[in-house]
This record gives sequence, C-alpha cells and structure tokens, in this order.
Amino acid sequence: MTQKYEPVIGLEIHARLKSKTKMFCACSNNTWKSEPNEHTCPICMGFPGSLPTINKEAVYLGRKMGAALGCEIKKFSKFDRKSYFYPDLPLGFQTSQFDEPVCEHGNLQVIVSGEKKSFRINRLHLENDAGKSTHSAHNSLLDWNRAGSPLAEMVTEADFRSPTDVSAFLKEVQRILRLLDISDADMDKGMMRCDVNVSIRPFGQEKFGTKVEMKNMNSFRNIEKALEFEIDRQTKLCNAGKKDEIVQETRGFNPDTGKTFSQRSKEEAMDYRYFPEPDLPPLIITQEEIDALQKEIPELPSSKILRYLDAGIGIAEADALVNDKYVNAVFEFVSEKTEDMKITSNWVLGALSKYLNDNLEYSLVNFNPENLVILIQLIQNNKISNKIANQIFDEMISENKNPEEIVEAKGLAQESDTGAIEIICKEVLEEKSDLVEAYKSGKDKLFGAFVGQVMKKSKGKANPQVVNELLKKLLS
Ligand SMILES: [Zn+2]
Repeated sequence: MTQKYEPVIGLEIHARLKSKTKMFCACSNNTWKSEPNEHTCPICMGFPGSLPTINKEAVYLGRKMGAALGCEIKKFSKFDRKSYFYPDLPLGFQTSQFDEPVCEHGNLQVIVSGEKKSFRINRLHLENDAGKSTHSAHNSLLDWNRAGSPLAEMVTEADFRSPTDVSAFLKEVQRILRLLDISDADMDKGMMRCDVNVSIRPFGQEKFGTKVEMKNMNSFRNIEKALEFEIDRQTKLCNAGKKDEIVQETRGFNPDTGKTFSQRSKEEAMDYRYFPEPDLPPLIITQEEIDALQKEIPELPSSKILRYLDAGIGIAEADALVNDKYVNAVFEFVSEKTEDMKITSNWVLGALSKYLNDNLEYSLVNFNPENLVILIQLIQNNKISNKIANQIFDEMISENKNPEEIVEAKGLAQESDTGAIEIICKEVLEEKSDLVEAYKSGKDKLFGAFVGQVMKKSKGKANPQVVNELLKKLLS
C-alpha cells in the first residue's frame, strides 16, 4: 500500500551549559562525580531572603549556542518565574524565560543520508535545572547538586518528517555543542535531553494532526525507535478509521519492548503564572557584541561534511571525521599539509583510530600531528611503503617520534635504486625458473608471486612500482 500519511515531528532540547558555576549562584556546576548535596547554597536551595545573581559565562554560552544555530540574538531579553510545585524544585518556581528569550528564529543545516536539509529553530532560552529525586518504596531522596545548573532550551519548528531527520539533527546539535565547548552533551548523563512530539497527517494536508509527546528521551537510538513505533501506531489507527483514538497525551517509551505507552493525558494546559523575575535585571547586548560573538562561530560540522564529500570521501567516513573534536582537528591540520584528504582520512580513520581504541588512556591532546604529516609525505614521496608506515605508526605515536628518524635509525627507507632492485629481481627469477617457464606459457597470475618474492627479499623496502616495471621488463 502506498503511504498515505506523513509524520510531523518537533523537538525540545535541553542542554546543560558547561559554565564553571551554576546559573544564579557560585556553587560548582561540575557535579557529576560528587556526593549528594555537596554543591548547594542558600540560593540554589531557595532559602528565604537569598538573592540570585546572573552567571555571565552561562549567558555567553547560551547566546553562542544560538549564534551557532543561526538564531537572531536578541538585544533585550529577560528572566521570568515559571511557578509550579515539585519537591525537587526548592523555590516553588523555575527561573526561565517567557516572552523575551535570548535567541529566536534559527536555522540549522544538516546532512541527512548525504543530502543537505535545513530545520528551523523557533527559540532558545535560558533557565535553571531542578534537583534530582529518587523514589523507593518507603521514601524519596532528594539531591540538589543539579538544582540551579544552567540549561539552554531550544524549541524547533515541526520541520522533521522522519526519525532519520531527527537523529541527524540531534547528532549535528551534539557535535556543535562539543565543538564549541558549550556543553558536554552526553545524553546518558542527562547533559542533553530531548522531548519529542509527533503527529501524522495525510500527504498534501497542511493542518497538523493530534500530537503525542514523549519526554526526557536519553539516547538517539531510543528516540528513533520510539518515533518509528509511534508513527506506525498512529498510521494503523488512521487506516482503521480510528483517528479519534489518537489523543493528545504524554507517552513513555519502553526500550525492552520497543513500544510506547500512555503516561498521562493532557488535561487543561498548566497555568505557570509566568511573571518577570523581580530579583534579576534584564539581559542587554549591543550590536557590536553580537557581531563579535558571531565571528567566534567556526565552520560547522555539516559544512565540513559537504567539503569532504566533494573531495571524494564517502559519507560514512565524512561523518566519522567530524564526530570527535580532536580527531577532526588532527584531520584538518594534516590534510591541509598533505593536500590529500583521501589518504589523510585513511590514516586518521584507520591506524590512528585503531591506536586510540587500543590505548584508551591516550589523549590526542598530546599528539603532535606534524609527525603524521611527515609519515604521509614519506609515502607520497615513495620514501617508504604503506607497509613500513604501518609498522612504525605505533612507535611514532606512543613515543611522539618523528617518523623520518625511525625510518633512518632502522634502515627502513624504501629502495628505489633501480640497479639494486634489479639484482634482487634477477635472483628471484633464477631461483624460480620453473615458475618463469609456467608464466611464459601463459600463467599470467604468477606475476604477483614474483612481486611478492622480491618484496620479501628486500624486507618490504623495495619500491613496488619499480619492482613491477623491472619484472615486466625482465620477463618479456
Ligand atoms: Zn548554590
């Protein structure tokens, strides 16, 4: 059956900003490995009479995130109180932004399965996080370390038409947050959290269908699976003429069954009684400051991917090259000097990535990429073979050695001297005279065996191209 319906998906993404301290107090924001309630003070615990102050660094990071997402940075913005009660919210309200967020109207280009797409961002605002409650059968435990941590919340337009669109977008956002040091954006640690809403509508129809929301999804995989299930569920109901059974509600996702389930239906829209935060001044930024901030935004991953594709690199490789900030920095540095993205990509994703996987304690921050440049240039100039390069790679990286020195010390330089190689070729052909007969009587495949023998005799140092040419000459 041809597909009659198209999915319409929108996202709300929370990113925990990587400032040193919390949003409105001087408590550390680096609470990941701390004891419960180690980082708390009267401000983030909401003691009466305590007064908040705005963390400049967090505001800067939020605006930078907006700039990277192509948003307009608002010259005037303010904080508002969003009132609701929950035990892990000690103040009885969240300090958020209602009608004047720091950024609005963004647009992010994303590469989805090799194709360029762009998705609109409605707004980005700043707020503080709540604490964490852990419930057991007999009691509830509260940890306020996270209370007051700075969050940037971005709301997209409902521009996504498939789970693949969504994963590609989230991946790009995560890469940008890490590239610009805005957030660690680890979903499993709650540094990046995502609410997804999804509805379906007949193709060609403009009006949205009834949407279902799924909150606090914590992995790309679960988001994709939950969306696939939900789209299928809604499509089946529509096809069966049971459109009315799709109700506006919040649904949970069970990763074990791969199914979504009803959590709570949307009653009346909650009244948060927003009003301007009386204890904080508005946020003002000048045009000059906005211009300066925009200049800080480097080339984004999606644009790099397009450049790599143009250079003949495959989509999977191009994608892998932008996944890690340091791996990408090494690749950019080395490929610029070797002027060959393909060879550089092979080394970065091959030997270098293997080394990093095998030596998890090794950090690329300590790696001198100039050595990889020299190694590749040695190959490009026929000074060493690929095989020798692979042999010395680990020594080069683990001891931070110049590969040229290793080659020299070990006498591994490739032999391109025709005279010396010719002697070896002749020796091999004499030793294998029976094979030479067979070759001459038409067994062309034996040629490879001669090359192999010569390479072996030269201990891998003979230039294979020279060997090929000489053998062809000697055998004709
Ligand atoms: Zn505090």
